[in-house]
Amino acid sequence: MFLSPQALAAELDAAVDQRQLVTYYQPQIDLSSGDIVAVEALVRWIHPTYGVIPPDEFIPIAESIGSIRRVGRTVLTDAAQQLTRWSAAGKRLELSVNISPTELGPELAGELVETLDEFGMDPTLLTMEITETEPIIDLPRAVRCLHEVRALGVGVSVDDFGTGYASINQLRNLPATELKVDQSLIRGNRSAARRTLIPVLAEASDLGIRIVAEGVETADQMNHAIELGCQRAQGYLIGAPMTPDEFNAHFS
Ligand code: C2E
Ligand code: MG
Ligand code: MG
Repeated sequence: MFLSPQALAAELDAAVDQRQLVTYYQPQIDLSSGDIVAVEALVRWIHPTYGVIPPDEFIPIAESIGSIRRVGRTVLTDAAQQLTRWSAAGKRLELSVNISPTELGPELAGELVETLDEFGMDPTLLTMEITETEPIIDLPRAVRCLHEVRALGVGVSVDDFGTGYASINQLRNLPATELKVDQSLIRGNRSAARRTLIPVLAEASDLGIRIVAEGVETADQMNHAIELGCQRAQGYLIGAPMTPDEFNAHFS
């Protein structure tokens, strides 16, 4: 069923209140050990009538109607709580949470501290992912905010790297601790990806930045990720985004 952005926008705030936003988790492995070391939180809107609405459909709407910070806080709180549950069950995992460029303001660090304190969560387990596919309108403001995030011990990841706006020069200004190589470069033409990426990723590695491959669907693509110098990988080959129950059943 086709739902217009206007129809979704009209329902989104109530959906947050009614807990229709559900956080899924996608595992990430360390390529040297093969162990699951982290999860990425990925939100879905489970609509009572229309079923699962993917984030690409409603995150831009949440941004445009000024509800993105509420959505972001909901996901962060859910995910921090889930990480605490896993930790209590003896699973030590790191957590990545996506954040929209419009959330990069002076309030963010304080909100992170509140959530970390609420769940007694180690800040070094948390990484905030900012996407490279959207331009950051106010770069100085965003850079200030990300430095505050880093000062807490929380990591900063540049998501969808290699597709958009963050050149290695801009990266020097962003206090990035991680780059996530975009899926198109993992699943697309390999020799082109190698030619353009290996020097950049090697330079990033020298700066102490962790390199993660996303969208790994086959063993071949996993080898390609290793050749590019990635330390971690994420993708359907390892596991799709799933509920905590599914995660526990798959990876007990
Ligand atoms: P992303 O952060 O780059 O997340 C990766 C997307 O690729 C996810 O789509 C994931 O399900 C999908 N994916 C993972 N592995 C594979 C694979 O092997 N093959 C293929 N074909 N796809 C794979 P999803 O969950 O639909 O999320 C789309 C985007 O929505 C995310 O891209 C992220 O930018 C945004 N998003 C998701 N959750 C949030 C959130 O809580 N806040 C914000 N601001 N954005 C979010
Ligand atoms: Mg991401
Ligand atoms: Mg991505």
